[in-house]
Amino acid sequence: MKPFTYTRTPDPGTAIQNVASNSKTKFVAGGTNLIDLMKENVEQPEHLMDISRLELTRIEERSGGLRLGALARNSDTANHRLVRDRYPLLTQAILSGASPQLRNKATNGGNLLQRTRCYYFVDTAAPCNKRQPGSGCSALEGFNRIHAIFGTSEQCIATHPSDMCVALAALDATVQVEGHSGARSIPIAEFHRLPGKTPQIDTTLRRDELITAIDLPASSAVFAPRSYYLKLRDRTSYAFALVSVAAALDIQQGRIRRARVAMGGVAHKPWRAEAAETILTGAPATEATFRQAAAAAMHSARGYEHNRFKIEMGERAIMRALTTVAIAKEVGI
Ligand code: SF4
Repeated sequence: MKPFTYTRTPDPGTAIQNVASNSKTKFVAGGTNLIDLMKENVEQPEHLMDISRLELTRIEERSGGLRLGALARNSDTANHRLVRDRYPLLTQAILSGASPQLRNKATNGGNLLQRTRCYYFVDTAAPCNKRQPGSGCSALEGFNRIHAIFGTSEQCIATHPSDMCVALAALDATVQVEGHSGARSIPIAEFHRLPGKTPQIDTTLRRDELITAIDLPASSAVFAPRSYYLKLRDRTSYAFALVSVAAALDIQQGRIRRARVAMGGVAHKPWRAEAAETILTGAPATEATFRQAAAAAMHSARGYEHNRFKIEMGERAIMRALTTVAIAKEVGI
């Protein structure tokens, strides 16, 4: 690990100013991803600005929805009464990720900024455009079992590792940030990027911007009785998703009024399956509708040598998630 200096501040303005004035400074809070990457020399900041004492830990009602503090711990967020009652999809997604110890330490803001778990990204002996732009992508012709099947580029086929963010995508969350030039709101769909020609850039967050909160809209609480996060992985805990599905339906008298389907483990960002949502909206909540929606969701998927299985797995996962959601209220899930 490269030596670095460290300071802590209770003031957001000081934290932002510090990062804005030094390109080698990074924010650190839970540190559950950043410190690992520093140990592997993938991340090499010269200075860490500890923001863990900022007053950004509250979870509170706002405009009929909920505001989640950026520094609230993942465990506290998942187990908060209002999150469990109104956005159980988020609770399920968070609790499916990492381990209890990591969730107790990791923050909501840090979860948004997790970096890919592509094997070659953390192997400094391997070419990787995300770690070292222009060096090549070892996964394209290498072992690409965990890699993306949507939105890839010739530069990078990595996936985003978060479960929490898949639920946030389905729930139409908004990320609140503050920077040197003021505050702004970023819809979750625009927060994470596809790799394109610049895979080293994961998000649309500017370097001097600090995530302050995540807002969940009141309108998404309608899905509370019928939502489900399905995560398929190599072992049943402490593993990243091969494919995951966040599904939510608003069903009235047998018909789907509103539908949300988002996927994890399949793209460089949480992947909203809009083609599936279009088919589901207004259709009867039947197996035939779910089958059609699942097929449409996977229509544009492109597999690589070792991950083609994800296409069929994705279709089956959507089918299972929607079926589970459709019966959820009847059986009290
Ligand atoms: Fe690097 Fe992306 Fe290729 Fe992985 S998939 S080796 S992160 S460029």
